[in-house]
Amino acid sequence: MEYRADVAIVGAGPVGCVAALAHARTGRKVVLIEANPTRKNRFAGELLHPAAVSALSAVGIHSIPCANDHLPNRGFAISSVDPDFTTLLDHPGAPGITFEFNHFVDHLRERAIATEGVQFLPHHRVVDLKGDTLVCKVRDEEDALIRADRIIGADGRFSVIRKLIGIEDDRAVLSYMAGLLLKDVTLPHEGYGHVMWGKAGPVLAYRIEENGVRICIDVPTVVKKRKDAKEAIWNLIREQLPEALKQPIHDELMNGKVLWAVNELRPRIHYGRGRVALVGDAVGHFHPMTGAGMTMGFGDALELAACDDLERYRARRHAGSLSPAMLATALYEIFAVRSAPTLALRKAIFDIWSEEPVLRERSMAFLAGTDPSITRLLNVGMRMVVRAFRHVVRDAARDRDIGQGIDGSRGIAGLVRWLLTEAVPPSMQMLKGDLPLTPFEQRRLLQQQQLDHL
Ligand SMILES: Cc1cc2nc3c(=O)[nH]c(=O)nc-3n(C[C@H](O)[C@H](O)[C@H](O)COP(=O)(O)OP(=O)(O)OC[C@H]3O[C@@H](n4cnc5c(N)ncnc54)[C@H](O)[C@@H]3O)c2cc1C
Repeated sequence: MEYRADVAIVGAGPVGCVAALAHARTGRKVVLIEANPTRKNRFAGELLHPAAVSALSAVGIHSIPCANDHLPNRGFAISSVDPDFTTLLDHPGAPGITFEFNHFVDHLRERAIATEGVQFLPHHRVVDLKGDTLVCKVRDEEDALIRADRIIGADGRFSVIRKLIGIEDDRAVLSYMAGLLLKDVTLPHEGYGHVMWGKAGPVLAYRIEENGVRICIDVPTVVKKRKDAKEAIWNLIREQLPEALKQPIHDELMNGKVLWAVNELRPRIHYGRGRVALVGDAVGHFHPMTGAGMTMGFGDALELAACDDLERYRARRHAGSLSPAMLATALYEIFAVRSAPTLALRKAIFDIWSEEPVLRERSMAFLAGTDPSITRLLNVGMRMVVRAFRHVVRDAARDRDIGQGIDGSRGIAGLVRWLLTEAVPPSMQMLKGDLPLTPFEQRRLLQQQQLDHL
Protein backbone atom coordinates (compact mmCIF):
# COMPACT_ATOMS: atom_id res chain seq x y z
CA MET A 1 0.00 0.00 0.00
CA GLU A 2 1.24 3.53 -0.75
CA TYR A 3 0.22 6.78 0.96
CA ARG A 4 0.98 10.45 0.29
CA ALA A 5 0.63 13.21 2.92
CA ASP A 6 1.93 16.65 3.88
CA VAL A 7 3.04 15.29 7.26
CA ALA A 8 3.78 11.74 8.42
CA ILE A 9 3.94 11.31 12.21
CA VAL A 10 5.61 8.18 13.53
CA GLY A 11 4.11 7.23 16.92
CA ALA A 12 0.61 7.87 18.26
CA GLY A 13 1.64 8.34 21.88
CA PRO A 14 0.50 11.50 23.68
CA VAL A 15 2.91 13.78 21.80
CA GLY A 16 2.28 12.23 18.35
CA CYS A 17 -1.48 12.67 18.82
CA VAL A 18 -1.12 16.34 19.82
CA ALA A 19 1.27 16.88 16.87
CA ALA A 20 -1.36 15.34 14.53
CA LEU A 21 -4.11 17.60 15.89
CA ALA A 22 -1.89 20.71 15.74
CA HIS A 23 -0.78 20.05 12.13
CA ALA A 24 -4.34 19.20 10.98
CA ARG A 25 -5.51 22.56 12.37
CA THR A 26 -3.12 24.30 9.96
CA GLY A 27 -4.86 22.54 7.03
CA ARG A 28 -2.12 19.97 6.41
CA LYS A 29 -2.94 16.39 5.47
CA VAL A 30 -1.55 14.11 8.20
CA VAL A 31 -0.81 10.40 8.38
CA LEU A 32 -0.45 9.15 11.99
CA ILE A 33 1.41 5.83 12.23
CA GLU A 34 1.32 3.54 15.28
CA ALA A 35 3.10 0.20 15.64
CA ASN A 36 1.35 -1.04 18.73
CA PRO A 37 -2.13 0.44 19.26
CA THR A 38 -3.38 -2.26 21.62
CA ARG A 39 -0.52 -2.15 24.10
CA LYS A 40 -2.06 -1.71 27.52
CA ASN A 41 -0.70 -1.38 31.01
CA ARG A 42 2.11 0.94 30.03
CA PHE A 43 3.45 2.77 33.06
CA ALA A 44 4.23 6.39 32.09
CA GLY A 45 3.12 10.00 32.61
CA GLU A 46 -0.06 10.58 34.60
CA LEU A 47 0.21 14.19 35.72
CA LEU A 48 -0.14 17.21 33.43
CA HIS A 49 0.97 20.68 34.45
CA PRO A 50 -1.19 23.73 33.65
CA ALA A 51 0.98 24.60 30.61
CA ALA A 52 0.20 21.18 29.09
CA VAL A 53 -3.52 21.56 29.85
CA SER A 54 -3.46 24.86 27.89
CA ALA A 55 -1.59 23.13 25.04
CA LEU A 56 -4.44 20.59 24.85
CA SER A 57 -6.98 23.45 24.73
CA ALA A 58 -4.99 24.97 21.87
CA VAL A 59 -5.67 21.83 19.79
CA GLY A 60 -9.36 21.76 20.75
CA ILE A 61 -9.27 19.36 23.72
CA HIS A 62 -10.95 21.13 26.62
CA SER A 63 -11.80 18.16 28.81
CA ILE A 64 -10.23 14.78 29.52
CA PRO A 65 -12.99 12.37 30.64
CA CYS A 66 -10.68 10.12 32.68
CA ALA A 67 -9.52 13.16 34.70
CA ASN A 68 -13.01 14.35 35.58
CA ASP A 69 -13.98 11.97 38.41
CA HIS A 70 -11.43 13.35 40.89
CA LEU A 71 -9.90 16.67 41.92
CA PRO A 72 -7.64 18.59 39.53
CA ASN A 73 -3.99 18.97 40.51
CA ARG A 74 -3.40 22.08 42.63
CA GLY A 75 0.35 21.65 42.96
CA PHE A 76 2.87 19.62 44.97
CA ALA A 77 2.89 18.44 48.60
CA ILE A 78 6.59 18.15 49.42
CA SER A 79 7.97 16.24 52.40
CA SER A 80 11.50 15.34 53.39
CA VAL A 81 13.03 13.42 56.29
CA ASP A 82 16.55 14.83 56.01
CA PRO A 83 16.27 17.73 56.66
CA ASP A 84 12.80 17.41 58.17
CA PHE A 85 10.50 19.59 56.09
CA THR A 86 6.97 19.70 54.65
CA THR A 87 5.24 22.28 52.48
CA LEU A 88 2.49 22.73 49.90
CA LEU A 89 3.50 24.39 46.63
CA ASP A 90 0.45 25.69 44.75
CA HIS A 91 0.15 26.39 41.05
CA PRO A 92 -0.24 30.17 40.90
CA GLY A 93 -3.01 30.07 38.23
CA ALA A 94 -5.17 27.32 36.72
CA PRO A 95 -4.66 23.76 38.00
CA GLY A 96 -3.15 20.74 36.27
CA ILE A 97 -4.81 17.31 35.89
CA THR A 98 -4.07 13.66 36.66
CA PHE A 99 -5.34 10.44 34.99
CA GLU A 100 -4.43 6.88 34.12
CA PHE A 101 -1.90 6.99 31.22
CA ASN A 102 -3.50 4.36 28.96
CA HIS A 103 -6.99 5.91 29.23
CA PHE A 104 -5.49 9.32 28.46
CA VAL A 105 -3.71 8.09 25.32
CA ASP A 106 -6.88 6.25 24.18
CA HIS A 107 -8.78 9.53 24.43
CA LEU A 108 -6.15 11.53 22.53
CA ARG A 109 -6.05 8.89 19.79
CA GLU A 110 -9.84 8.91 19.46
CA ARG A 111 -9.76 12.70 19.12
CA ALA A 112 -6.96 12.59 16.54
CA ILE A 113 -8.62 9.83 14.48
CA ALA A 114 -11.94 11.74 14.44
CA THR A 115 -10.25 14.89 13.10
CA GLU A 116 -10.62 15.83 9.46
CA GLY A 117 -7.32 15.61 7.64
CA VAL A 118 -5.85 12.90 9.92
CA GLN A 119 -5.47 9.35 8.63
CA PHE A 120 -4.55 6.76 11.28
CA LEU A 121 -2.47 3.72 10.34
CA PRO A 122 -2.55 1.25 13.25
CA HIS A 123 -0.27 -1.82 13.37
CA HIS A 124 2.25 -0.09 11.07
CA ARG A 125 5.82 -0.29 12.35
CA VAL A 126 8.26 2.09 10.65
CA VAL A 127 11.48 0.24 9.88
CA ASP A 128 13.21 2.39 7.28
CA LEU A 129 13.40 5.85 5.77
CA LYS A 130 14.41 6.34 2.12
CA GLY A 131 14.54 10.04 1.21
CA ASP A 132 10.99 11.32 1.77
CA THR A 133 9.48 7.82 2.09
CA LEU A 134 8.88 5.80 5.24
CA VAL A 135 8.83 2.01 4.99
CA CYS A 136 6.46 0.21 7.39
CA LYS A 137 6.03 -3.44 8.31
CA VAL A 138 2.31 -4.18 8.53
CA ARG A 139 0.82 -7.16 10.36
CA ASP A 140 -0.17 -9.92 7.86
CA GLU A 141 0.25 -7.58 4.89
CA GLU A 142 2.86 -6.29 2.47
CA ASP A 143 5.10 -3.41 3.48
CA ALA A 144 3.48 0.05 3.30
CA LEU A 145 5.24 3.10 1.81
CA ILE A 146 4.39 6.58 3.11
CA ARG A 147 5.67 9.69 1.30
CA ALA A 148 5.53 13.05 3.07
CA ASP A 149 7.03 16.54 2.88
CA ARG A 150 7.56 16.59 6.64
CA ILE A 151 8.34 13.51 8.70
CA ILE A 152 7.98 13.68 12.48
CA GLY A 153 9.57 11.22 14.87
CA ALA A 154 7.18 11.04 17.84
CA ASP A 155 8.27 7.49 18.56
CA GLY A 156 9.47 7.95 22.13
CA ARG A 157 12.69 7.11 23.90
CA PHE A 158 13.65 4.17 21.71
CA SER A 159 13.05 6.28 18.59
CA VAL A 160 13.75 4.44 15.34
CA ILE A 161 13.49 7.71 13.41
CA ARG A 162 16.30 9.18 15.48
CA LYS A 163 18.51 6.23 14.52
CA LEU A 164 17.48 6.35 10.86
CA ILE A 165 18.64 9.97 10.55
CA GLY A 166 21.94 9.13 12.22
CA ILE A 167 21.54 10.81 15.62
CA GLU A 168 23.39 9.11 18.44
CA ASP A 169 21.52 7.22 21.15
CA ASP A 170 22.86 9.12 24.17
CA ARG A 171 20.58 7.82 26.93
CA ALA A 172 21.92 7.21 30.44
CA VAL A 173 20.05 5.12 33.00
CA LEU A 174 19.37 7.04 36.25
CA SER A 175 17.28 4.51 38.16
CA TYR A 176 14.08 2.48 37.89
CA MET A 177 10.50 3.36 38.79
CA ALA A 178 8.18 0.88 40.49
CA GLY A 179 4.50 1.71 40.04
CA LEU A 180 1.68 0.61 42.36
CA LEU A 181 -2.04 1.35 42.22
CA LEU A 182 -3.64 1.68 45.66
CA LYS A 183 -7.40 1.39 46.12
CA ASP A 184 -9.44 2.78 49.05
CA VAL A 185 -6.78 5.12 50.42
CA THR A 186 -6.88 8.83 51.23
CA LEU A 187 -3.89 11.04 50.50
CA PRO A 188 -2.71 13.46 53.20
CA HIS A 189 -3.41 16.33 50.76
CA GLU A 190 -6.01 15.35 48.19
CA GLY A 191 -5.61 17.33 44.95
CA TYR A 192 -1.81 17.55 45.29
CA GLY A 193 1.00 15.51 43.78
CA HIS A 194 2.97 14.17 46.76
CA VAL A 195 6.75 14.13 46.49
CA MET A 196 8.31 12.35 49.47
CA TRP A 197 12.08 12.45 49.84
CA GLY A 198 14.01 10.05 52.03
CA LYS A 199 17.22 7.97 52.10
CA ALA A 200 17.57 7.46 48.35
CA GLY A 201 15.18 8.61 45.59
CA PRO A 202 11.69 10.09 45.90
CA VAL A 203 8.34 8.35 46.31
CA LEU A 204 5.53 10.08 44.38
CA ALA A 205 1.80 9.73 45.04
CA TYR A 206 -1.20 11.21 43.27
CA ARG A 207 -4.81 10.26 42.62
CA ILE A 208 -5.33 9.09 39.04
CA GLU A 209 -8.95 7.92 39.31
CA GLU A 210 -11.85 8.25 41.73
CA ASN A 211 -10.75 5.26 43.75
CA GLY A 212 -7.14 4.87 42.69
CA VAL A 213 -3.88 6.44 43.85
CA ARG A 214 -0.70 5.91 41.82
CA ILE A 215 2.49 5.39 43.80
CA CYS A 216 5.81 5.77 41.96
CA ILE A 217 8.89 4.56 43.81
CA ASP A 218 12.32 5.58 42.56
CA VAL A 219 14.48 2.44 42.83
CA PRO A 220 18.30 2.58 42.51
CA THR A 221 19.55 0.25 39.76
CA VAL A 222 21.48 -2.02 42.11
CA VAL A 223 18.45 -2.46 44.34
CA LYS A 224 16.19 -3.36 41.38
CA LYS A 225 18.65 -6.13 40.41
CA ARG A 226 18.73 -7.75 43.86
CA LYS A 227 16.97 -11.06 44.52
CA ASP A 228 15.34 -9.55 47.62
CA ALA A 229 14.51 -6.31 45.74
CA LYS A 230 11.07 -5.83 47.30
CA GLU A 231 12.35 -6.10 50.88
CA ALA A 232 15.27 -3.79 50.04
CA ILE A 233 12.91 -1.23 48.48
CA TRP A 234 10.67 -1.33 51.54
CA ASN A 235 13.67 -0.77 53.85
CA LEU A 236 14.72 2.21 51.73
CA ILE A 237 11.36 3.98 51.62
CA ARG A 238 9.37 3.19 54.73
CA GLU A 239 10.69 6.15 56.77
CA GLN A 240 9.60 8.71 54.19
CA LEU A 241 5.98 7.51 53.91
CA PRO A 242 3.03 9.07 55.74
CA GLU A 243 1.41 6.73 58.34
CA ALA A 244 -1.83 6.39 56.34
CA LEU A 245 0.00 5.02 53.27
CA LYS A 246 2.59 2.77 54.97
CA GLN A 247 0.56 -0.44 55.24
CA PRO A 248 -1.21 -0.17 51.84
CA ILE A 249 2.11 0.49 50.08
CA HIS A 250 3.80 -2.38 51.91
CA ASP A 251 1.00 -4.82 51.04
CA GLU A 252 0.77 -3.81 47.38
CA LEU A 253 4.56 -3.89 46.97
CA MET A 254 4.91 -7.34 48.52
CA ASN A 255 1.77 -9.08 47.24
CA GLY A 256 0.20 -6.92 44.55
CA LYS A 257 1.01 -5.90 41.01
CA VAL A 258 4.17 -3.86 40.44
CA LEU A 259 4.66 -2.02 37.13
CA TRP A 260 8.21 -1.14 36.09
CA ALA A 261 9.73 1.64 34.00
CA VAL A 262 13.32 2.77 33.58
CA ASN A 263 14.23 6.37 34.43
CA GLU A 264 16.68 7.74 31.91
CA LEU A 265 18.36 10.98 31.01
CA ARG A 266 18.82 12.16 27.46
CA PRO A 267 19.64 15.87 27.17
CA ARG A 268 17.35 17.79 24.78
CA ILE A 269 19.90 18.62 22.07
CA HIS A 270 18.78 17.05 18.78
CA TYR A 271 15.53 18.19 17.19
CA GLY A 272 15.92 16.47 13.82
CA ARG A 273 17.70 16.75 10.49
CA GLY A 274 16.64 17.80 6.98
CA ARG A 275 12.92 17.21 6.49
CA VAL A 276 12.73 15.08 9.63
CA ALA A 277 11.78 16.67 12.98
CA LEU A 278 11.76 15.00 16.40
CA VAL A 279 9.25 15.75 19.18
CA GLY A 280 8.62 14.58 22.76
CA ASP A 281 10.74 11.85 24.32
CA ALA A 282 12.47 11.22 20.98
CA VAL A 283 14.19 14.61 21.48
CA GLY A 284 15.13 14.00 25.10
CA HIS A 285 13.84 13.10 28.54
CA PHE A 286 14.86 13.22 32.19
CA HIS A 287 13.78 11.92 35.57
CA PRO A 288 9.95 12.02 35.75
CA MET A 289 9.93 13.41 39.32
CA THR A 290 8.82 16.87 38.20
CA GLY A 291 6.20 15.44 35.80
CA ALA A 292 7.28 17.72 32.96
CA GLY A 293 7.81 15.22 30.09
CA MET A 294 4.46 15.68 28.32
CA THR A 295 4.39 19.42 29.00
CA MET A 296 7.61 19.66 27.05
CA GLY A 297 6.47 17.26 24.32
CA PHE A 298 3.20 19.16 23.76
CA GLY A 299 5.26 22.37 23.54
CA ASP A 300 7.34 20.71 20.77
CA ALA A 301 4.21 19.63 18.88
CA LEU A 302 2.60 23.08 18.91
CA GLU A 303 5.80 24.93 18.03
CA LEU A 304 6.59 22.57 15.15
CA ALA A 305 3.10 22.96 13.65
CA ALA A 306 3.59 26.74 13.73
CA CYS A 307 7.07 26.65 12.10
CA ASP A 308 7.93 25.97 8.47
CA ASP A 309 11.60 26.01 9.20
CA LEU A 310 13.21 23.25 11.31
CA GLU A 311 16.09 25.48 12.41
CA ARG A 312 13.66 28.00 13.89
CA TYR A 313 11.77 25.16 15.60
CA ARG A 314 15.01 23.88 17.15
CA ALA A 315 16.06 27.33 18.42
CA ARG A 316 12.65 28.06 19.94
CA ARG A 317 12.33 24.70 21.65
CA HIS A 318 15.86 24.88 22.98
CA ALA A 319 14.97 28.19 24.63
CA GLY A 320 11.59 26.88 25.83
CA SER A 321 12.69 23.61 27.39
CA LEU A 322 16.14 24.29 28.81
CA SER A 323 15.08 25.53 32.24
CA PRO A 324 12.50 22.78 33.05
CA ALA A 325 15.00 20.14 31.87
CA MET A 326 17.80 21.58 34.02
CA LEU A 327 15.50 21.91 37.01
CA ALA A 328 14.32 18.30 36.79
CA THR A 329 17.91 17.04 36.51
CA ALA A 330 19.33 19.19 39.30
CA LEU A 331 16.42 18.53 41.72
CA TYR A 332 16.59 14.77 41.19
CA GLU A 333 20.28 14.65 41.99
CA ILE A 334 20.06 17.02 44.95
CA PHE A 335 17.41 14.82 46.57
CA ALA A 336 18.54 11.38 45.40
CA VAL A 337 22.20 11.73 46.37
CA ARG A 338 23.11 12.07 50.04
CA SER A 339 26.30 14.10 50.54
CA ALA A 340 27.51 17.28 52.27
CA PRO A 341 26.79 19.53 49.24
CA THR A 342 23.38 18.05 48.48
CA LEU A 343 22.31 18.32 52.14
CA ALA A 344 23.32 22.00 52.12
CA LEU A 345 21.44 22.54 48.86
CA ARG A 346 18.32 20.83 50.26
CA LYS A 347 18.40 23.14 53.27
CA ALA A 348 18.86 26.16 50.96
CA ILE A 349 15.85 25.15 48.83
CA PHE A 350 13.67 24.72 51.91
CA ASP A 351 14.89 28.09 53.32
CA ILE A 352 13.86 29.79 50.11
CA TRP A 353 10.46 28.09 49.95
CA SER A 354 9.77 28.99 53.63
CA GLU A 355 11.10 32.56 53.69
CA GLU A 356 10.80 34.04 50.22
CA PRO A 357 7.25 33.90 48.82
CA VAL A 358 8.24 35.44 45.46
CA LEU A 359 10.98 32.84 44.87
CA ARG A 360 8.64 30.08 46.05
CA GLU A 361 6.05 31.14 43.47
CA ARG A 362 8.76 31.44 40.83
CA SER A 363 10.04 27.91 41.59
CA MET A 364 6.51 26.64 41.01
CA ALA A 365 6.26 28.51 37.69
CA PHE A 366 9.50 26.79 36.56
CA LEU A 367 8.21 23.39 37.71
CA ALA A 368 4.83 23.88 36.03
CA GLY A 369 6.40 24.92 32.74
CA THR A 370 4.77 28.36 32.76
CA ASP A 371 8.07 30.29 33.07
CA PRO A 372 10.81 29.02 30.74
CA SER A 373 13.19 31.95 31.41
CA ILE A 374 16.73 30.65 31.86
CA THR A 375 17.88 34.00 33.27
CA ARG A 376 15.31 33.90 36.06
CA LEU A 377 16.12 30.21 36.74
CA LEU A 378 19.82 31.03 37.06
CA ASN A 379 18.97 33.96 39.32
CA VAL A 380 17.00 31.69 41.71
CA GLY A 381 19.73 29.02 41.39
CA MET A 382 22.47 31.45 42.39
CA ARG A 383 20.55 32.72 45.41
CA MET A 384 20.09 29.12 46.47
CA VAL A 385 23.79 28.46 45.98
CA VAL A 386 24.75 31.40 48.24
CA ARG A 387 22.51 30.03 51.00
CA ALA A 388 23.90 26.51 50.44
CA PHE A 389 27.48 27.79 50.91
CA ARG A 390 26.40 29.35 54.23
CA HIS A 391 24.97 25.99 55.37
CA VAL A 392 28.19 24.22 54.38
CA VAL A 393 30.30 26.62 56.42
CA ARG A 394 27.92 26.47 59.41
CA ASP A 395 27.66 22.65 59.37
CA ALA A 396 31.45 22.22 59.01
CA ALA A 397 32.04 24.63 61.94
CA ARG A 398 29.43 22.80 64.07
CA ASP A 399 30.99 19.39 63.32
CA ARG A 400 34.55 20.83 63.45
CA ASP A 401 35.21 19.10 60.15
CA ILE A 402 37.21 21.09 57.57
CA GLY A 403 37.16 18.16 55.12
CA GLN A 404 33.36 18.21 55.13
CA GLY A 405 33.44 21.98 54.41
CA ILE A 406 35.85 21.53 51.49
CA ASP A 407 33.86 18.62 50.06
CA GLY A 408 30.61 20.60 50.37
CA SER A 409 32.09 23.71 48.72
CA ARG A 410 33.57 21.67 45.85
CA GLY A 411 30.23 19.93 45.22
CA ILE A 412 28.34 23.22 45.15
CA ALA A 413 30.96 24.79 42.87
CA GLY A 414 30.45 21.77 40.55
CA LEU A 415 26.73 22.49 40.46
CA VAL A 416 27.37 26.16 39.61
CA ARG A 417 29.69 25.13 36.78
CA TRP A 418 27.10 22.69 35.44
CA LEU A 419 24.30 25.29 35.62
CA LEU A 420 26.37 27.86 33.75
CA THR A 421 27.61 25.49 31.06
CA GLU A 422 24.17 23.94 30.48
CA ALA A 423 22.81 27.46 30.00
CA VAL A 424 25.24 28.45 27.22
CA PRO A 425 23.59 28.93 23.82
CA PRO A 426 23.88 25.95 21.43
CA SER A 427 26.29 27.90 19.19
CA MET A 428 28.80 27.85 22.07
CA GLN A 429 28.26 24.21 23.07
CA MET A 430 31.89 23.35 22.27
CA LEU A 431 32.87 25.36 25.37
CA LYS A 432 31.22 22.71 27.52
CA GLY A 433 34.26 20.44 27.48
CA ASP A 434 34.19 17.06 29.16
CA LEU A 435 31.65 17.60 31.93
CA PRO A 436 29.90 14.74 33.65
CA LEU A 437 26.34 14.31 32.34
CA THR A 438 24.84 15.69 35.56
CA PRO A 439 26.25 17.58 38.54
CA PHE A 440 26.40 14.73 41.04
CA GLU A 441 26.66 11.84 38.60
CA GLN A 442 29.78 10.25 40.11
CA ARG A 443 28.49 10.54 43.68
CA ARG A 444 25.18 8.99 42.65
CA LEU A 445 26.88 6.02 41.01
CA LEU A 446 29.06 5.51 44.09
CA GLN A 447 26.05 5.74 46.37
CA GLN A 448 24.19 3.20 44.25
CA GLN A 449 27.08 0.75 44.70
CA GLN A 450 27.02 1.31 48.45
CA LEU A 451 23.27 0.67 48.59
CA ASP A 452 23.99 -2.83 47.35
CA HIS A 453 25.43 -3.63 50.78
CA LEU A 454 22.37 -2.46 52.70
C1 LIG B 1 7.29 6.17 35.27
C2 LIG B 1 7.09 7.43 34.47
C3 LIG B 1 6.35 8.47 35.00
C4 LIG B 1 6.17 9.64 34.25
N1 LIG B 1 5.43 10.65 34.80
C5 LIG B 1 5.16 11.74 34.04
C6 LIG B 1 4.25 12.72 34.50
O1 LIG B 1 3.68 12.61 35.59
N2 LIG B 1 4.01 13.79 33.70
C7 LIG B 1 4.60 13.92 32.47
O2 LIG B 1 4.34 14.92 31.77
N3 LIG B 1 5.45 12.98 32.00
C8 LIG B 1 5.74 11.90 32.73
N4 LIG B 1 6.53 10.91 32.23
C9 LIG B 1 7.09 11.08 30.88
C10 LIG B 1 6.00 10.80 29.81
O3 LIG B 1 5.45 9.52 29.99
C11 LIG B 1 6.65 10.91 28.44
O4 LIG B 1 7.25 12.19 28.34
C12 LIG B 1 5.61 10.73 27.33
O5 LIG B 1 5.02 9.43 27.35
C13 LIG B 1 6.30 10.95 25.98
O6 LIG B 1 5.35 10.84 24.97
P1 LIG B 1 5.79 10.54 23.46
O7 LIG B 1 4.51 10.55 22.69
O8 LIG B 1 6.92 11.41 23.08
O9 LIG B 1 6.40 9.05 23.49
P2 LIG B 1 5.72 7.68 23.91
O10 LIG B 1 4.71 7.88 24.97
O11 LIG B 1 6.83 6.74 24.19
O12 LIG B 1 4.94 7.21 22.59
C14 LIG B 1 5.67 6.76 21.45
C15 LIG B 1 4.71 5.98 20.56
O13 LIG B 1 5.41 5.63 19.35
C16 LIG B 1 5.11 4.29 19.01
N5 LIG B 1 6.23 3.80 18.20
C17 LIG B 1 7.51 3.57 18.63
N6 LIG B 1 8.28 3.14 17.62
C18 LIG B 1 7.47 3.10 16.51
C19 LIG B 1 7.70 2.71 15.14
N7 LIG B 1 8.90 2.29 14.71
N8 LIG B 1 6.68 2.80 14.27
C20 LIG B 1 5.44 3.23 14.69
N9 LIG B 1 5.17 3.58 15.97
C21 LIG B 1 6.17 3.51 16.87
C22 LIG B 1 4.98 3.59 20.36
O14 LIG B 1 4.23 2.38 20.25
C23 LIG B 1 4.24 4.66 21.18
O15 LIG B 1 2.85 4.55 21.06
C24 LIG B 1 6.75 9.75 32.96
C25 LIG B 1 7.52 8.70 32.44
C26 LIG B 1 7.69 7.55 33.19
C27 LIG B 1 8.50 6.43 32.61
